[in-house]
Amino acid sequence: MINVGIIGAGASGLAAACVLAAGAEDVCVTLIEKKEQAGKKLLLTGNGRCNYSHTVISPEDYHASDPAFISRFLERFSPEDARSFFLSLGMLSAERNGGLYPASFQASSVLNVLLDALKQKEVPILCNSAVSDIKPDDLGFLVKTEEGKTYRFTHLILACGSASGTKDRRPFNAYSLLEALGHTVAKPLPSLVKLNGAEGFEKAWSGVRVRARVSLDEDSDTGEVQLTDQGISGIPVFQLSHRAVRELEDHSSVSVELDFLPEYSAEVLTKLLSATDKNRAVLSVLRGWLPRKLAEVILKKKHIYPETKAGELTEQVKRDLVGFIKRFPYRVTGHGSFAESQVTSGGVLLNEITDDFGSRLCPGLYITGELLDADGKCGGYNLHFAWGSGKLAAEAILRGKG
Ligand SMILES: Cc1cc2nc3c(=O)[nH]c(=O)nc-3n(C[C@H](O)[C@H](O)[C@H](O)COP(=O)(O)OP(=O)(O)OC[C@H]3O[C@@H](n4cnc5c(N)ncnc54)[C@H](O)[C@@H]3O)c2cc1C
Repeated sequence: MINVGIIGAGASGLAAACVLAAGAEDVCVTLIEKKEQAGKKLLLTGNGRCNYSHTVISPEDYHASDPAFISRFLERFSPEDARSFFLSLGMLSAERNGGLYPASFQASSVLNVLLDALKQKEVPILCNSAVSDIKPDDLGFLVKTEEGKTYRFTHLILACGSASGTKDRRPFNAYSLLEALGHTVAKPLPSLVKLNGAEGFEKAWSGVRVRARVSLDEDSDTGEVQLTDQGISGIPVFQLSHRAVRELEDHSSVSVELDFLPEYSAEVLTKLLSATDKNRAVLSVLRGWLPRKLAEVILKKKHIYPETKAGELTEQVKRDLVGFIKRFPYRVTGHGSFAESQVTSGGVLLNEITDDFGSRLCPGLYITGELLDADGKCGGYNLHFAWGSGKLAAEAILRGKG
């Protein structure tokens, strides 16, 4: 008889529990969860719709200490495997812009099928139980909780996720549990997070949503950017945040550039400006191109009086103005907190983990999901890693059983 304890009833822990519970009659599984309910974060994902995977995934979609590990992982758990996993639990999927979602477009469908499968197999989920100590011994693992309970397991899956997106009164302690077991943790930092600056004009553009290309050197992403009273946010900003946040560790600021009219070349825009009615105020022209607040910030930064007539602008000033709209420099000096981020970068080094997500240092221990030093872009990649790592760890435990 094997007796598996899973610490953390989030995405990877629930997936692992479903595979174990369906795998063999003589496997006993227990989930231990510190929150009052299982899968709370799942309900927040994809703005309540749960973008649970992506139709096309490649190793480049992840930041990882060992990219080859991710390649091997994706060979064993593809987007089709994710879709089949949920179909086996009775959930239909739908695709939107390459992202995979439950057909209901409700995150609660994902959580419900997972919890229903566990209920059917009578898998206990012990909520309000925060694991505070793990002692490996000859029989497996002795696990203690902050609430004073002790449990014994032959195998343990650590699926504690990260501090991202949660406001917990208790500090996130999984890294110290893992370090006590001999593992090395690459410095955790918030990722998929907003970037803050202190240029002095943030209040003036606050509330604007604009389509833009955001670039950090050769990396760029295009989509809706939110201009806030603290800086910049939105998916294109999130996609560059892993790198920006890491660079801010070593530098006091990082320069990003925003192209506020990515579909138009500088040449075309300069021609349009030249061809406009000479008596039209320049602010009125820019209001046809950009949200008003943003146009005002741009003119102020370029020291151009908003009522200046288009005909009064020299060719050089027109080119400068257009260049500024296309390559608006923004100095990033900070970023959102863990609670404000969607994922955490850093975590347990992948070279300390087997391809089955087993610990190379502590036999019988498995580590899954966001606890590991692999974080994906925005778009279903992080949950894909969570389901896949949970499933592969559970299958390895089942294989080792016989
Ligand atoms: C707002 C938001 C939106 C997101 N949207 C998406 C999306 O659409 N697509 C996508 O791919 N990813 C998304 N993500 C990221 C995704 O949710 C995570 O990457 C994923 O949930 C990680 O799975 P996990 O199993 O590693 O951890 P989690 O799902 O975080 O689960 C970990 C669980 O362990 C518990 N735990 C922690 N420590 C202990 C302890 N000591 N004892 C007991 N229990 C403990 C936690 O309470 C938690 O329930 C989003 C994240 C956020 C915050």
